[in-house]
Amino acid sequence: MNALRKLFGFHGGVKPAPNKDLSTREPIAQIALPERFVVPLHQSVGGTPRPLVAPGAQVQKGQRIGAADGNVSAAVHAPTSGTVLAVEPRIMAHPSGLAGPAVVIAPDGLDTACERDPFLWRSAKPDEVRDFLRDAGVVGLGGAVFPSHLKLRAGREHPMQTLVINGAECEPFITCDDMLMRERATGIVRGAAIMGELMQPREVLIGIEDNKPQAVAAMRAAVQAAGVRGMEVVVVPTRYPAGGAKQLIRVLTGIEVPHGTRSTDFGVQCFNTGTAYAIWQALEQGMPLISRIVTVAGNVARPRNFEVRIGTPLAQLFEAAQALPDTERYIMGGPMMGFRLPDLAAPVQKATNCLLAGSPALFPPPPPEMPCIRCGDCAKVCPADLQPFELYWFARAHNYGKAQEYSLFDCIECGCCSYVCPSRIPLVDYYRYAKSEIWARERDKASADGARTRYEARLARAERDKLEKAAKLAAKTAAGRQKAEQAMAGGAAAAPGEAAADPKKALIEAAMERARAQREAAQPKNVEGLSAAQQAEISKAEARRELARQMADNKEVPPE
Ligand code: SF4
Ligand code: SF4
Repeated sequence: MNALRKLFGFHGGVKPAPNKDLSTREPIAQIALPERFVVPLHQSVGGTPRPLVAPGAQVQKGQRIGAADGNVSAAVHAPTSGTVLAVEPRIMAHPSGLAGPAVVIAPDGLDTACERDPFLWRSAKPDEVRDFLRDAGVVGLGGAVFPSHLKLRAGREHPMQTLVINGAECEPFITCDDMLMRERATGIVRGAAIMGELMQPREVLIGIEDNKPQAVAAMRAAVQAAGVRGMEVVVVPTRYPAGGAKQLIRVLTGIEVPHGTRSTDFGVQCFNTGTAYAIWQALEQGMPLISRIVTVAGNVARPRNFEVRIGTPLAQLFEAAQALPDTERYIMGGPMMGFRLPDLAAPVQKATNCLLAGSPALFPPPPPEMPCIRCGDCAKVCPADLQPFELYWFARAHNYGKAQEYSLFDCIECGCCSYVCPSRIPLVDYYRYAKSEIWARERDKASADGARTRYEARLARAERDKLEKAAKLAAKTAAGRQKAEQAMAGGAAAAPGEAAADPKKALIEAAMERARAQREAAQPKNVEGLSAAQQAEISKAEARRELARQMADNKEVPPE
């Protein structure tokens, strides 16, 4: 056991049957390359990587096929060499059964790896190491798939006291970390040592449950061989969920990480053993994260652990472990926290730690749900120190505000409360539903807020355009008025003969002159040789014409 190290307890927890022995009898096996790889682009917390390949592209093993979308993201890589057939949505291993973006690759069978220059992490700057790990696609392999490079940052900005390597693996049936520690302890210890160099903690504690004596022995031998100062393997009591990060930190250090805080606020950071191994592979072997260990157990003839390339169809793993004919459901994860798989065409992802085949005998259907009797058993076992029955009432009543007030999001979905509930209430299902509803409402609210912001911006833009147009029109009018005034002032000052200089005016005057001349030419002349009577008649006619012209000009009727 542990010499002189004091261990602490955590609140709650249960002791379900471990069911771990069957899948640890045989060593880790390699799964054959499938006919098609479906490599999901979104495999970590954060943004979905941007595809770097198109259909028809030839890729090599380890080639980056998806670039991290910002810093909270991690790249994805081709698991083997071959041809890209499609970049399209494919069904994913998720309770919803929804499709997600993926790169479909037809292997060429050669498994040719792309050349990678060794990364000299010791001489690199911390930011360069983190960028390298992000581009190598390293994420937390304990299930959370949080990009590891972001967690390594904590050591540079906050003084780090303890680095915890989580080998507790408390959930029944799951043995992938146990087998990794037994068979590849050296790589894990080297990965932990690298993290220690990057984060400079006072101590590195590798926590392993006492039901894994072979893993403890292998890891202790590796630590001794590596001779890393301040690194220690600590055996912790077997109690579910001792493998939860907060619970293991509590057991090893006595630090209680309260609601709403992070372990780094107390100088502690925690990584899974598989993550430590992946960091070592990436930094010292230049191998990005393209495979992981997966436990396949339950109702299968040959339960064991497989090293599986990311993107392998789940069906191939159940086939390799020989799922029995009475299997009626397939589960990803363990019996406490896992979920039912909607489709076995979905691929293995970085988060896939365990696959279980379920039969009615192995996992009998739960008895009908009964009303809550307020016995309080659920609260006694809750490792997050919550009041599960209160959360249940609020979730059931769709009173999500109250559920949040009672720290719904501190629930780690460990399933301890459901496990002990005498009324067989599937409490975790209620919490998951409530969380998804709250997320959906927040998404809707964010989208409505975005639409309102866009609408208000459009209105402001229209108002601005209107004001600009009005200002332009006012300026134009003022300029016209000023011009007219200047023209008028200029006209008054012009010389009398100046109009003649205007060609238009000259033309008008010439036309008027011609008309006057024609009128005069049309006037009857005193013709010699006419009689006096004729002369008198002509005079009268002229007088009448003159009178008519005057009337037309004056528009007046003369007196009779
Ligand atoms: S254990 Fe079940 S019955 Fe008892 S208080 Fe909790 S929810 Fe109610
Ligand atoms: S599932 Fe949530 S509420 Fe239930 S015991 Fe676990 S942490 Fe507590």
